[in-house]
Amino acid sequence: MAKLTIIHTIQELQALLDRNKRQGQTVGFVPTMGFLHEGHLSLVEHARKQNDVVVMSIFVNPAQFGPGEDFDAYPRDAERDAGLATEAGVDILFMPTPEEMYPQEGGIRILPGSQAAELCGASRPGHFDGVLKVVLKLFNIVDPDHSYFGMKDAQQLAIIETFVRDFNLRTTIVRVPTVREQDGLAKSSRNVHLSEDERKEAPAIQQALQKGARLVAEGLPIDEIEQQVSDYIVANSSGSIDYVSLLAYPALTKAIDNTSEVIIACAVKFEKTRLIDNIIISTKG
Ligand code: AMP
Repeated sequence: MAKLTIIHTIQELQALLDRNKRQGQTVGFVPTMGFLHEGHLSLVEHARKQNDVVVMSIFVNPAQFGPGEDFDAYPRDAERDAGLATEAGVDILFMPTPEEMYPQEGGIRILPGSQAAELCGASRPGHFDGVLKVVLKLFNIVDPDHSYFGMKDAQQLAIIETFVRDFNLRTTIVRVPTVREQDGLAKSSRNVHLSEDERKEAPAIQQALQKGARLVAEGLPIDEIEQQVSDYIVANSSGSIDYVSLLAYPALTKAIDNTSEVIIACAVKFEKTRLIDNIIISTKG
């Protein structure tokens, strides 16, 4: 396939994919909320290499936004996204409406476990319930061989890996490294909501995390590392700290003794938007 096919309904998507699958083609899936940037396109690049057909979904999922969060203000540009998806080599772009995805509410909930207790799970109650809800629906709709997720959302990725493993979901999750601006800021659809000054300061987030990684290597106590990372962000930006946490990865527990990797993850609030970033540090060797 060379041309992009844009589809809005589940039925049409499944009819098309059934044809591909009957021909023995493998399907790679890239779920997104749109307003595409190089981070999303890197997921597509990985999917392109490993599958015959690449499906991208663009759906700003109301179920994962809490009251007072930025569901309405979340940036959207369907036309621009379609152009970028075409260039990147997406075959099928699935853009359902909320009514198509959630025609009725039967009241069944999917609750993530302990991995959702910290970080964004703690500061955005119910967020990962909504993520798992849409991810399960999308996996059932698309039935992909491989599904691509970014390490930028490391907690989301860890929870989805557990979900797939524990519930025998028939897709293989592929982790894709975080794509950054030249100055180190993690690419994010929400970066457009930074003011000019905030944009200049925002690389302080990744600098602080890198400093944290050096402190891990030096063996400093966890709370001291978290404090120094927070202090660096506060000293070098106008952002306020939502959280800075050092945890085992991917277990996301505070106990880090028997883990080969730890994560320092943070969320920082600016005037109009909240950014997250993380760094993974190997504790071996
Ligand atoms: P979003 O549209 O923000 O929900 O993100 C959709 C997918 O793209 C998720 O798997 C994200 O982790 C991934 N993603 C977002 N930003 C980046 C980035 N800077 N680098 C790599 N992947 C990303």
